[in-house]
Amino acid sequence: MNEQTNTTTVWMCDKCQKALMSQKVKVRYLEGNFEVELLKCPECNMVFIGEDLALGKILEVEKSLEDK
Ligand SMILES: [Zn+2]
Repeated sequence: MNEQTNTTTVWMCDKCQKALMSQKVKVRYLEGNFEVELLKCPECNMVFIGEDLALGKILEVEKSLEDK
């Protein structure tokens, strides 16, 4: 048995049914620039934000923007 188990979740674009590609996106946060790896659809360029990111970093970014 040499079957490879793919533990990585493959995300698909609902619209295009294409596998999303991981791509680094620059996010401005406070005075710095951060590079965050986000999943992007190669077809429609829609960026998908994973749950971890949506509940964590992005929320922090949004919150800090509101506070200004
Ligand atoms: Zn798409």
